[in-house]
Amino acid sequence: MDGWFTTEEPYTLIGARCSACGTYVFPPRSGACPNPGCDGTDLEPAELSRRGRIWSYTENHYAPPAPYVAADPFEPYALAAVELEAEGLVILGQVAKGVMAADLEIGMEVEVDLQVLFTDDDGVEKWVWTWAPAAPSGGAR
Ligand SMILES: [Zn+2]
Repeated sequence: MDGWFTTEEPYTLIGARCSACGTYVFPPRSGACPNPGCDGTDLEPAELSRRGRIWSYTENHYAPPAPYVAADPFEPYALAAVELEAEGLVILGQVAKGVMAADLEIGMEVEVDLQVLFTDDDGVEKWVWTWAPAAPSGGAR
């Protein structure tokens, strides 16, 4: 998943944005705009909002199918579909370790974090983004 998020704080997901109409996509890719009303062919990398609101969520008690890679032994985790209002995207991601479905609710504010998903046979840590309950934002909104 190289190039899907920044690896320095503040961690930020990287999508792509159509230079013609401003439509966002995630994961990032190049090529034609997904907006059927747009002829744009120029998607450019773009950092996405770090915070969004939970649109739906679930809990996985079984290892997901390929291409997803799960920790071994498998640990249940929550998954959340999070709406980024500014970009008009809903992004599915694991919820931060230790936070389960019972801790979540629709509309809850979450923010991007990273965690080690697993360490491969060569000892290389594989990272994945997670949705973590957002720290209180100081009220400005
Ligand atoms: Zn476009």
